[in-house]
Amino acid sequence: MPQKKRGKTPVEEAVARILNALDVPEKTEEIPLLQALGRVAAGDVCARVAQPPFDRSALDGYALRAADIAAAGPETPVTLPVSRYLCAGSDPGGPLAPGTAARIMTGAPVPAGADCVLRQEDTESDGQTVTFHAPVEARANVCFAGEDIAPGKCLVPAGTRLDEVSLGLLAGQGVQTVTVYAKPRAALMPTGDELCSPETPLRPGKIYDSNGPMLAARMLRLGAEPTLLAAGPDDPAALAGKLARLLAEYPLVITTGGVSVGDRDYLPQAAEEAGAKLLFYGIDAKPGTPALAAGKDGHVLLCLSGNPFASFATFELLARPALAKLQGADPAPVRVRAALANGFGKPSPLRRFVRATLMGGVVTLPKGGHFSGGIGALAGCNCLVDVPAGSRALNAGDEVEVILL
Ligand code: AMP
Ligand code: MG
Repeated sequence: MPQKKRGKTPVEEAVARILNALDVPEKTEEIPLLQALGRVAAGDVCARVAQPPFDRSALDGYALRAADIAAAGPETPVTLPVSRYLCAGSDPGGPLAPGTAARIMTGAPVPAGADCVLRQEDTESDGQTVTFHAPVEARANVCFAGEDIAPGKCLVPAGTRLDEVSLGLLAGQGVQTVTVYAKPRAALMPTGDELCSPETPLRPGKIYDSNGPMLAARMLRLGAEPTLLAAGPDDPAALAGKLARLLAEYPLVITTGGVSVGDRDYLPQAAEEAGAKLLFYGIDAKPGTPALAAGKDGHVLLCLSGNPFASFATFELLARPALAKLQGADPAPVRVRAALANGFGKPSPLRRFVRATLMGGVVTLPKGGHFSGGIGALAGCNCLVDVPAGSRALNAGDEVEVILL
């Protein structure tokens, strides 16, 4: 069967076609708060109680009416009887009697009637009475109910990826479970007759599979539930049968290898024979130019180059937005601008994504190892530099745009 001619679909257009072909997630689940780290909220979660729930003392000292010590000064100390003792967790009791003070600890409720708290370091006390040498402003050192979080405030809008702070916000509301989108299931099948199982000693011409475990791990990190399949053969009929079965079961199916123009690159043909409709074949960027996507019944097949860095970069560009959409999250990558610490010798007639490390606002490129077939130089990298088509060689100090991994 003649293979389809490759095009040069712009990356953003390629992503739009993938997202368009993917059904939106519908499955949600209610899970315990502590299991929800990294998951995506399926609905808004709003504050049901004020935070703090009552007016409370911000420090250890005395609660009183500011008016009662308005006349206090260095020469005119005011002494009040200590009429109650309140610590964190205490019931505040009834209103504070005028002309008295309450001994109060940090976090304790300020009793009705009292309108300020004085820190104990500025007072003298014998336990029964407390003496003040200066006046104080009303409201001083009181953390008022709802000052931190007002009831009804949206704490976690739908689509938020829950982080540590989200969990703290919800826990402060007494929330025990949260409704999140189900983890998207995705199948990953490396292909190539050269791939051999790690249990087997390497024979001439064979290599171990780097892409499968690397991209499956990436999927885990991105909140998906990957199924890593045994390596597929360079055999169109076997691949087509396998792809058809996988596409029926998984919303996203990713392959690596066999998608270029070599004699034994059968993925374009297999995708067609599996009944998937071509979304694009070829992107306008390096590495991973031969990437292909096809859709079937709301599910998407994404075929990436076998070259390890190419598979990694195109996974980030094309598969990551798909996984985000499948879990109800924002598919747009995080992009920042930063200056290069060192240069990149080659010009880029085609748009190019270069592995790099962003730290302290500076982007450092690996010294060498910039080929799509290698992952050595990818170690420790945390971003891809997006080098526009038509760029000359890059110099230290040039400002570039990077996509954070
Ligand atoms: P292909 O995309 O099939 O033309 O493969 C391009 C290069 O990537 C070849 O050198 C392959 O041997 C290598 N390769 C393919 N698949 C993998 C893999 N899963 N792990 C590591 N290298 C691979
Ligand atoms: Mg191959």
